[in-house]
Amino acid sequence: MSRYWSDFVNGLEPYIPGEQPLDPAVIKLNTNENPYGPSPKSLKAITDCANQQLRLYPCPDSKELKNTIADYYELSPDQIFVGNGSDEVLAHAFNGLFRKTQPVLFPDITYSFYPVFCRLYDISYHQIPLAENFYLQLEQYCRPNGGIIFPNPNAPTGRFLDLNNIENLLREVTNSVVVVDEAYVDFGGASCAALIPNYDNLLVVHTLSKSRSLAGLRIGYAMGSSSLINGLNRVKNSFNSYPLSRIQAAAAVASFKDNTYFENTIKKVVVSRLDLTGELKTLGFEVVPSMANFLLVTHPKVSANSLYERLRANDILVRHFDRPRIDSYIRITVGNNAQNRALTQCLSSIVKSV
Ligand SMILES: *Cc1c(COP(=O)(O)O)cnc(C)c1O
Repeated sequence: MSRYWSDFVNGLEPYIPGEQPLDPAVIKLNTNENPYGPSPKSLKAITDCANQQLRLYPCPDSKELKNTIADYYELSPDQIFVGNGSDEVLAHAFNGLFRKTQPVLFPDITYSFYPVFCRLYDISYHQIPLAENFYLQLEQYCRPNGGIIFPNPNAPTGRFLDLNNIENLLREVTNSVVVVDEAYVDFGGASCAALIPNYDNLLVVHTLSKSRSLAGLRIGYAMGSSSLINGLNRVKNSFNSYPLSRIQAAAAVASFKDNTYFENTIKKVVVSRLDLTGELKTLGFEVVPSMANFLLVTHPKVSANSLYERLRANDILVRHFDRPRIDSYIRITVGNNAQNRALTQCLSSIVKSV
């Protein structure tokens, strides 16, 4: 609190991101980063960009990147919006598409930035509880609303909902915007970008932070009808005309053009997710089935907080959410083989000591 702040700022409850320790020896399994690093082609594109041209502003519409993404998903460039991380894209979507009289609907257990955006833009919201086992039941979203948003796969559960369910929802909900946050869809899910030509009110949001391993560069994008994209452009151009630097745009374009590298790293993460699931179950953990690059797990004998603290004491960071329904779980990012081995060894000694 400060007397210099407006009442509005005093009332905000900002999002708290996972910790980024300075010590590189820490095994970071807390923010769902990709252990394999960006494509060498992205790294080359970055160094190729580091020249006198940086004196010039970037293209305000990131045209080359929009063309590249449009080609990749068989859409047209006016169906693509890009921003400084998908968090920024989501913020513009809340601001531009969700400020209605009816409340915005999202699950009770989901990405915790959504209620933060609602408070920032003074949007009323209603959280719909996930069913047992963290199933997302979209039938419950067919009620008056000012917009609907959910991640698919959901975060932090990892559960994936197939496209039939989403299409059924879109058949019912025609007067408000449905945003599907597909931050983790590349790890085995199917994107509902394929539904965009049939549904004007569907916005699909992606990030290059997870599957494309560019979290440090901050690049996200949205795909939807040109009318939704135009709305986002109006908000963006009232806020920051140049959200992506020349370096961000060049690295992103190169990432989409290196599909072999992309597919190989995804494959490795998916194999590790399956291996890790098996090993954790052997140690007595319950593992929520995940289509993402993380696992939500609980152990019948050791509390989540004590798992978190004891891993941390061994320089392994995971995430523990002190929130109803998931406070007995920890969320573990799937790492590389060495990281996963260190994790399972440490968990094995913790579990055996009780
Ligand atoms: C990581 C994540 C994001 C944000 O990604 P950035 O592009 O790094 O801002 C958005 N939504 C969900 C569900 C995420 O997990």
